[in-house]
Amino acid sequence: RRPIIIIAVLFTVVIGGLVTMSVMQNKPIHQKYKYGIVLDAGSSHTSVYVYQWPAEKENNTGMVTQKHTCNVKGKGISSYFRNANQAGPSLRECMEEAERAIPTPRHQETPVYLGATAGMRLLRKENETASGNVLLSVMQFLQATPFSFQGARIITGQEEGAYGWITVNYLSDNFRRAQHTMGALDLGGASTQITFESGDHFKSINDFIHFRLYGKEYRVYTHSFLCYGKDQALKLFLDRQLQAHPTGSGKQTLEDPCFHPGYNKSKSVQDIYNSPCVSEVQPSKAEFTHKGTGNWMLCQKNVRRIFNFSECTSSSCSFNGVFQPPLKGQFGAFSAFFFVMDFLNLTSEPLEVSKKKLAAYCSMPWDEVTKNHKKVKEKYLQEYCFSGTYILTLLEDGYNFTSETWKDIKFIKKIANSDAGWTLGYMLNLTNMIPAEAPDSPPIPHA
Ligand code: AMP
Repeated sequence: RRPIIIIAVLFTVVIGGLVTMSVMQNKPIHQKYKYGIVLDAGSSHTSVYVYQWPAEKENNTGMVTQKHTCNVKGKGISSYFRNANQAGPSLRECMEEAERAIPTPRHQETPVYLGATAGMRLLRKENETASGNVLLSVMQFLQATPFSFQGARIITGQEEGAYGWITVNYLSDNFRRAQHTMGALDLGGASTQITFESGDHFKSINDFIHFRLYGKEYRVYTHSFLCYGKDQALKLFLDRQLQAHPTGSGKQTLEDPCFHPGYNKSKSVQDIYNSPCVSEVQPSKAEFTHKGTGNWMLCQKNVRRIFNFSECTSSSCSFNGVFQPPLKGQFGAFSAFFFVMDFLNLTSEPLEVSKKKLAAYCSMPWDEVTKNHKKVKEKYLQEYCFSGTYILTLLEDGYNFTSETWKDIKFIKKIANSDAGWTLGYMLNLTNMIPAEAPDSPPIPHA
């Protein structure tokens, strides 16, 4: 009996194999996913995002998901201004990760976009040749990857705001469901953006953009404040304080209420004055002693000085004379808004509680802070009192959120497993993945 069973098994395997082969030869294997890559070349660092979506459903919103992310080691691309040809190769490791994350047969058809933001906007202001050379280096590098390179450019602040808004609303599926949209608050190192739907018709047309998405019209207000990202805001803040107490003959000591008591470091003046955001007149000494005093009330008073709240020639303003319509709806606050508020455990506290907790945190001695947070990078740790105060001031005094509307701000990192930020919106737009019109009727399922 055994030989008969063996022959039967062999027969089944051979016939089965032949059938499978013929099916495979007549019909191509179904392609399940498509991919896209966006590099966010920020002021402090570059991140690579790999997105994927089902090959046959690209025009349905809610279909694109984030498959992989990689943070490029080192600083942002603008930091390569002195040795521009090294900017491109700095992306190598992350682009190799992207190669592994995407199936090889799909590499050639996968679009790659690089968008640089406020760090490069500032470098272009200061030294256009250097910013051009940095862009050229990243372009040449990305062109040599196996992907389909689509361009590397400095995006405008308006685009940054608008694409962030598209991202959060796409991920929340607000377009397809034609429901209320959510505003977007983005805080980077060198700029900050506020974007929200404002139906009201105002005279100022500069800060409005129109979209027709999924059959609905959207009128969106967006404004980007260059120099008001958290790293540049700190430079503005330190500059004001250094100028307010000019040095005598000896080394200048800056007593800073936004830094913890016991914090005491010698710092280079050049590290503050290396930016077009700060005044051209700089202190005469090369170094100053930065000493913390941890006094939150005074800290907020001094932080307010980097804004101009009095000038406004429109019906309503945020700050520095910039028109802003009344706030409307819920807001998602992401990037550094999230990092800082999350560290301070203030993502779901009312405004008044946040102020009290922050005041207590700022008064903590520096050695206690370092002891409690051994794993947090010192670069970030030393600045959380300032950054938290800056965020509360920007949101309350700058953008006009109140104790009542504070609950409308959701501090978020991700929505539906994808990072909130401008990159997804940028890719959706450039690949025409959000249709202007809604499909007439849902597709009829096959019998
Ligand atoms: P950008 O590089 O312009 O996108 O800005 C990102 C900002 O987030 C910079 O100010 C960074 O210093 C800041 N950042 C990134 N990670 C953290 C973190 N873990 N804690 C605090 N700030 C952060």
